[in-house]
Amino acid sequence: MIATPFPNQPPPYEGCNLYASDVALGDAVGHYDAAWAAAQLAAWGATLGAPQTWALADAANRNAPTLRSFDPGGERIDEVAFHPAWHDLMRLATASGEHCAPWRSPRSGAQVARAAMYYLHAQVENGTQCPLTMTYASIPVLARHAGELPQVADPWLPRVMALDYDPRVLPVDAKRSALIGMGMTERQGGSDVRANITHAAPDGDGAWRVSGHKWFFSAPQCDAHLVLAQTSAGLGCFLMPRVRPDGTRNAIRILRLKDKLGNRSNASSEVEFADALAWPIGAAGRGIATILEMVQYTRLDCVIGSAGIVRAAAARALHHARHRTTFGRRLVDHPLMAHVLADLALESEAALWLALGLAHACEADADAPTRAAARIVTPAAKYWVCKRAIAATAEAMEALGGNGYVEENPLPRFYREAPVNSIWEGSGNIVCLDVARATRKEPDAVDALLAALAQAGGANAAFDRHCAALEGALRCADDDPAANRRIAQAVALAVAAAALIRHAPDFVADAYCASRLASDGYAGAAFGTLQSGVATRRILERALAD
Ligand SMILES: Cc1cc2nc3c(=O)[nH]c(=O)nc-3n(C[C@H](O)[C@H](O)[C@H](O)COP(=O)(O)OP(=O)(O)OC[C@H]3O[C@@H](n4cnc5c(N)ncnc54)[C@H](O)[C@@H]3O)c2cc1C
Repeated sequence: MIATPFPNQPPPYEGCNLYASDVALGDAVGHYDAAWAAAQLAAWGATLGAPQTWALADAANRNAPTLRSFDPGGERIDEVAFHPAWHDLMRLATASGEHCAPWRSPRSGAQVARAAMYYLHAQVENGTQCPLTMTYASIPVLARHAGELPQVADPWLPRVMALDYDPRVLPVDAKRSALIGMGMTERQGGSDVRANITHAAPDGDGAWRVSGHKWFFSAPQCDAHLVLAQTSAGLGCFLMPRVRPDGTRNAIRILRLKDKLGNRSNASSEVEFADALAWPIGAAGRGIATILEMVQYTRLDCVIGSAGIVRAAAARALHHARHRTTFGRRLVDHPLMAHVLADLALESEAALWLALGLAHACEADADAPTRAAARIVTPAAKYWVCKRAIAATAEAMEALGGNGYVEENPLPRFYREAPVNSIWEGSGNIVCLDVARATRKEPDAVDALLAALAQAGGANAAFDRHCAALEGALRCADDDPAANRRIAQAVALAVAAAALIRHAPDFVADAYCASRLASDGYAGAAFGTLQSGVATRRILERALAD
């Protein structure tokens, strides 16, 4: 008879309060004026960490959505059928306000509180975050242009800001709530949207007709998408409803769903528009500028979401190592494994401060220099944190040994998920080119960034050297596109290190600076190459509170 529970298998991580166990998150939330949200975040952390929520996440990803092109009578319906777990997760998330809270209830710290909600959600399930992000990011764009068209202001804004989930396929004014997606990428180009060939023409009464296609069109079940299309004045941005006001379906044909590496709970599609009804958002010819406001917020969510994935991976690995014994010692007590785990914990805390710092820069009451610096830091952080999530999930998986590779724990899912944040909304090279563009064209942003970094100066020699070299690179008049990844990485590391120096314990900041900014040849190498003497025990105690 074999004794149960089996010896040396760690207890479930499920049941852990994802907020209460994260000391650094509580610190960052407090520092960025969102302490008023602590009780709500603790409740959200308990809900997300509960075994039943993990089970929903698992079910939603094992049972990918399917396309239903026709009803039984042969009528085109272009619907996507989701597993009930998807709807349950969407219900939970929309009730929490992840898709709208800072716009619905603006106050100091509202963006940071919402970012913390999103960060916690990212640690459990990521597919559902796609329509939540796009809705969140669309609201400022809709609000800015609401006065221009009555079709936009009244039916849409109150519904995208409702704390409700209503998946019914109905005209917007018959619904309790609405979700918004975005359609930019076409077959011939995603990064270079100026190559879009989908076109739009006015149709009277403020309405336009759009014809063409989109090669990636995520969450096609959304109630509307912000879509780019060519007009006689250049690219325009349009709000394209799924259902026309008269209740008939708009001419959006879903051709097929993408068979994706990860993000499998979510539907991403290819679509064609056949004279689809849409309303212009902003001036015709100003489409890129209009949608760029949305992209600023979707990029923010890529950073927060990836930071959440790094956290999920690091916490799972540490939990496992605290409970698994090899060669007579707990894994966490083996010096080499402690270095791997501490390195992951440092990456996680750095990503957290970067993400919440960017959310802080989006607050309605953020000062001008903070906003200016974010124009450089947002693309740099999107580049760096999304890339690090790919490496961190692989390393965390290995810390669990063979169990890490098995689908019964979520690490394989996070590993598959991680690259998408790096690809969409500006792939790696594109965001690095954006860092360079902002640096070249916006000297006030460079000044603001360097002034912010200077506030952390004098405490760490490696940091000071790094910032001096970075200043030289940022102020260099020569544009060498081949160097842009180096600069984006240097910006992200500097901003993360500055936040750790100013707000985290010294043992965290010192270890981060020594491992990431020193020039001993190991910076950016595999995890686990921290210098000897690093305070691994204290770093790990902080990383996951019991
Ligand atoms: C799961 C998923 C969901 C998506 N959902 C949506 C959606 O809802 N709506 C939407 O509009 N799009 C969506 N996308 C598309 C995504 O935004 C694009 O794939 C992305 O912008 C890249 O465009 P592309 O695929 O055309 O690649 P390309 O533009 O061809 O780029 C290919 C590679 O070349 C690099 N590159 C391009 N130009 C340069 C340059 N000048 N210098 C150096 N390198 C360069 C890019 O960084 C990239 O690595 C989604 C993608 C995925 C994977």
